[in-house]
Amino acid sequence: MAQLPWHKSLQQALVQRQTDGLYRYPRLRQGPQGVNVKVDGQAFISFCSNDYLGLANHPEVVKAFQKAADQEGVGSGAAHLLTGHSQYHHELEMALAAFTGQQKVMTFATGYMANLAVIDGLMNRGDVVIQDKLNHASLLDGSRLSQATLYRYAHNDMASLHQRLHQTANIERKLIVSDGVFSMDGDMVALPELMALAKQHHAGVVIDDAHGLGVVGDAGKGTLQYFADQIAEKPILVGTFGKAFGTAGAFIAADELIIETLTQHARSYIYTTAPPPAIAAATLAALQINQHDDAYRQRLQARIEQFRQGASQLGLKIMASQTAIQPILIGDDKQALKLGQQLEEHGILTGVIRPPTVPKNTARLRITLSAAHTEVQVNQLLSALEQCHVH
Ligand SMILES: *Cc1c(COP(=O)(O)O)cnc(C)c1O
Repeated sequence: MAQLPWHKSLQQALVQRQTDGLYRYPRLRQGPQGVNVKVDGQAFISFCSNDYLGLANHPEVVKAFQKAADQEGVGSGAAHLLTGHSQYHHELEMALAAFTGQQKVMTFATGYMANLAVIDGLMNRGDVVIQDKLNHASLLDGSRLSQATLYRYAHNDMASLHQRLHQTANIERKLIVSDGVFSMDGDMVALPELMALAKQHHAGVVIDDAHGLGVVGDAGKGTLQYFADQIAEKPILVGTFGKAFGTAGAFIAADELIIETLTQHARSYIYTTAPPPAIAAATLAALQINQHDDAYRQRLQARIEQFRQGASQLGLKIMASQTAIQPILIGDDKQALKLGQQLEEHGILTGVIRPPTVPKNTARLRITLSAAHTEVQVNQLLSALEQCHVH
């Protein structure tokens, strides 16, 4: 007996996805995350994690996790607003407020949930949310949940944003939402121009800096710090821990009034169990490493430059990215899939990114670099790209 009466059409859709080169499945990793990974039984040099500083398996981070688990056990046991909010969550929130220079911070189990919260908790039906076309899916879902009217503007195109602001001039509450560093292209938001437009049109701004924190700006303070000299006021900031911090979870940093409002209204904060305290403790350790040791960022930057130089010598279609995300545009889905497979035969793992994650006909190899990569490993990547005739 089929579990769903429309079983047949589900099956047809899956077969179609396979034919189109769009089928996805999770692969099985054995052992820790890192630049050397074993996946489905095969060893690879990985260029597809978001562990940009190599902290996911860092001894200090692991030790902080273990120590907190010894003291407080594993589960937080309740939502933040009941008894789930531990001393470790509190310490992390205080440290992040100091780190970001914002008044107050609240933490979440995932970035996905923080993005739902920051939009759903502030906007309602009749309000307007204006988003960059290439924003992360979780930000779009936040808009949907809030029931505010969603407008999108052409990627990082301030004329297009300006037009949207004109179009919605009679709406009182408008929120502009953008990634800080775009997750599939690696480029940065035109923040000074965006902030100026927001001010002129009385709109609020949210920046999701999942890929900027730990990577760009002094002390890894991210996109807002990178542009600090050019912006007068700080936008609301979302940051995640699953990327450069090497742990899991996320935060919103903002004025106290905003955080208090979100605490009352954000459903993805209220109706969920707080993350384990040991995760907060590990994140605090990662934050300290990030803040006090620039060597990680310098190594990452050296690998980024090495890759970009080598790739342009090979004539590869790299994008205008100064960050750890260095995609090579392929275009055709099946061609991208084939190249990804060929690279795997050379022991190199890359992200093969296809629609709907990216626009149609822009399938790409998403190469991400890490402070943990060696110069030799990046050379191995470049030589594999050459041998596979990626161009
Ligand atoms: C990864 C990511 C998220 C989601 O964060 P998780 O903690 O993985 O749920 C949100 N926004 C952007 C831009 C991301 O890249």
